[in-house]
Amino acid sequence: WKTINASDQSKDELYEMKITFNRMIDYLKENFEKQQMFVSDASHELKTPISIVKSYSQLMKRRGADNPDLLQESTEAIESQADRMQKLVEQMLLLAKNKDKDVYESFNIVELCRSTIETFKGAYDRVFLFETASEIIHVKGSYDQLQQVVYSLMDNAVKYSQDTVKLSVRQNGHHVDVDVQDNGPGIPGAEQEKIFDRFYRIDKSRSRETGGTGLGLSIASTIIEAHGGELTVSSTTGKGSTFTVKLPVSQES
Ligand code: ADP
Repeated sequence: WKTINASDQSKDELYEMKITFNRMIDYLKENFEKQQMFVSDASHELKTPISIVKSYSQLMKRRGADNPDLLQESTEAIESQADRMQKLVEQMLLLAKNKDKDVYESFNIVELCRSTIETFKGAYDRVFLFETASEIIHVKGSYDQLQQVVYSLMDNAVKYSQDTVKLSVRQNGHHVDVDVQDNGPGIPGAEQEKIFDRFYRIDKSRSRETGGTGLGLSIASTIIEAHGGELTVSSTTGKGSTFTVKLPVSQES
């Protein structure tokens, strides 16, 4: 470490160094605050299932021995809360994962979408539509991560609507847009930015019933940004929502 003294450095250089140093401190502070916020939000989210598990276990201990219905209800509740905690922990690990480590390759996004639609058709008794003008559009990235994004957007469309879900792929010059469209309740304007925040859910109780954690869209947008793309939503209350994944098209095939 070199001692800086005014005679060695011009005032301008010292000023520049001070600005750079302050920017570094601001950056570290901001990241530290984000981490603190994440830990506090995560603990808060885990608190509810933990206290539900605790009260059902106490109930079972007090009155479970001669009450099979209560025993049944309690074990089911404990199991579902354990599932919820498992999902939360898995998603938190995904968010913390170093995404730079994944291997990027060039692949056909139309094929990824087609196979996703087939999976959903097999899993749910619902109408799923698939639309594409082209059979081959290459993107460069992690197949697994991008599949996870399309899965979670489709999953939300199924969870939050009752009607047809449509998946479409469109090339727009150097970009490809993947749309997931539903005819569900829609998302009010003021909420449209917030839903991408970690742990944010519009209706916490309804979302908890559907097993929502509020992490899906946050993970999806982190993945898409790491791929040089953008995840956006356009929605009208009472009419439905369309989530759009915009990715750069790859020249390699
Ligand atoms: P969750 O696990 O709760 O679904 P997400 O991050 O995927 O978490 O979504 C955040 C919130 O955005 C959801 O809780 C829900 O309120 C709202 N949301 C997401 N997708 C849709 C959709 N297709 N229609 C209506 N609301 C949606």
